[in-house]
Order: sequence, then structure tokens, then C-alpha cells
Amino acid sequence: MTLKQMIERDAYDLGFSAFGVAAVDYDPLGHSRLVQWLDAGYQASMEYMQRGPRQRFDPRTHLPDARSVIVCALNYYVSPNDDPSKPCISIYARGENYHTVLRDKLEALVIKIKEKIGNFKYRVFVDSQAFSEKTWAQKAGIGFLGRNAMLIIPPKKRNNPARAWGSFHFLGVIISDLYLESDSPGVGTCGECRKCIDACPTNAIIGNAIVDSNRCISYHTTQNKGEIPNEIASAMGNMMFGCDICQLICPYNSRSNPTSEARFKPGPVDFDRQKSITENEFKSRFAKSSLGEIKFGMFERNLRIAWSNLKNRLNRNWSR
Ligand code: SF4
Ligand code: SF4
Repeated sequence: MTLKQMIERDAYDLGFSAFGVAAVDYDPLGHSRLVQWLDAGYQASMEYMQRGPRQRFDPRTHLPDARSVIVCALNYYVSPNDDPSKPCISIYARGENYHTVLRDKLEALVIKIKEKIGNFKYRVFVDSQAFSEKTWAQKAGIGFLGRNAMLIIPPKKRNNPARAWGSFHFLGVIISDLYLESDSPGVGTCGECRKCIDACPTNAIIGNAIVDSNRCISYHTTQNKGEIPNEIASAMGNMMFGCDICQLICPYNSRSNPTSEARFKPGPVDFDRQKSITENEFKSRFAKSSLGEIKFGMFERNLRIAWSNLKNRLNRNWSR
């Protein structure tokens, strides 16, 4: 068994649902696509996206001795099963904060590697630093970028013991100085499908894998610290944190398996119109979840909009 095969086996033992290795090359195409996206202003208020665009596509800017990029995917799907009369949150935020869960698992994988070969140089990335996990997941053969800009694992991906497919996966990366054989880039295509484009209530998907954050509910409810424009707010419906529409409609997700990761099992997130939540309650109740990462003012704003949309919907139904 090669070192790569042993690491892959360990990754699956730790619960990861897909694994791949990419060669360490600068990706000028990804870099220029990001620059075009930024030039068009599609990052909205996410100024951090402008920091070091090259770093996202050049592993050696993070680790000069880098020789491999290990990418692991972790299924987070749970059935939405929402009460349509109450505000709801995106599937990805229902369990424990994915940054913590993925980082713990990647560090556990690093420990297993060290047990085999001793110390090595590495950096771990989980959607919090300037590195494009999706790009490298595609390069590592895990999947392809769908029109909705999500990394999609096709059902026929080779070497898929976890039977993982679709886009309800978090991605984590280990850039390392280990020499590991790289995989072929992921293949797959949306074909003629445009379901996500047609389903997006705010027309935020404006091209192949291009999303205008200024129009995206997910951006506004999780990143925008200011006012949410009326047009977006009214399209939110009862979604008060994130948005799953362009993923739930995707045919590649029609047979998503529920996650087996216990830390992603949904906790009780039930919003009661009768009970207001204080800032302290918000902080303690959502301390371990992604929802707890936003400011209390954003939480209140989102909840207010979702309740208002629900009230308007009820009024419309009554007047029919
Ligand atoms: S997350 Fe929602 S608003 Fe954003 S692109 Fe997808 S469907 Fe549209
Ligand atoms: S809904 Fe269709 S177009 Fe959109 S990402 Fe899925 S397969 Fe691609």
C-alpha cells in the first residue's frame, strides 16, 4: 500500500466522504476568473475576497515547500424537514460549526500521517483563509463546479466507498510537503440543465459558476452587515440564515444520503414569535453553530424579515 492509499483509507475511517490529491501548480485560469468576478463587484461587501487573489490559486504562497494538496469532502446533508410556518436556517448550519468539525478531522488525519512517517510540513484550510477549496477539489478529482458555483461530486466518481455524491459537502484541504501521486481532475457537467438558474428567487446565478453576491440571499443573510435591500428581503421567504434553493433543486442532490457525522445532526432551532431572544441567549444558544458567527443585530434583522414574510404570506392566503 502506498502512503497515499494509507492516507485515503485513514480519511474514510475518519468519516470523510471523498478524498483526492492535486498537484501543486499555480492555476492562472482560476486566478483570472476570480479577478474578473471581483472587477464586476460580485463580492459585494466581502472585502476579504480582494485580499491575495493569487494565494487562492497558488499553494506555494502558503507553503513554499508544498508538494501536494490533499482535499477531503465531508457530507453534511440532513433532510430539511422544515415547518413552513416558521423561520428556517440553511442545512449547512443546523449542526455544529463546520469549521471546527472539519479542522478537528483534518488535524486527526495529520496525526495519523505523522504516526506513519514522522513530522512533515503542512497547512490546513477550511473555508477561512485565502485558498479556493472548490478549485482544488476539482483538481484533486473530487468533482466539478456546477452552474450554481457549488462543487458537485458526480455519482460515477471512481473510488467512492462512502457513496458520496452531490454538493452537500464541506471541503477541507491539507497543503503538505509530502510527495503523493496526484489524481486526474474531476469531470462532470451540468449538461443542458438550468434548474438552479431558474429556481433562484433573486436571479443571482448569472453564468456558469458565477454568482452575484449582491443578489444572493445566502450572502445577505450571513455576510451583509448592513440593510438587506427590499427586493432581496421579500424573496427570502422564511429563510433567515443561508439559502439552499439552488442546491435542493439540483438533480445531482436528488439522492443525497444523510450525513453519518454525529456533530452535524441538527440541534433544536425553533423560533417562537412569542419569545424574543436576548443577545446573551443568542450567544449561548448558538455558540457552537455557524449561526452564532453572525452579529446579534444581523440575527435580529434576518428573523424580523422572515417573520414579516411569513405574516405577509398568511395575509395573502387569507385574502384569497
Ligand atoms: S443561495 Fe439562494 S439566492 Fe444564492 S444563488 Fe443559490 S438560490 Fe440564489
Ligand atoms: S441544478 Fe442543474 S445547472 Fe444547476 S448545478 Fe445542478 S446540474 Fe448544474
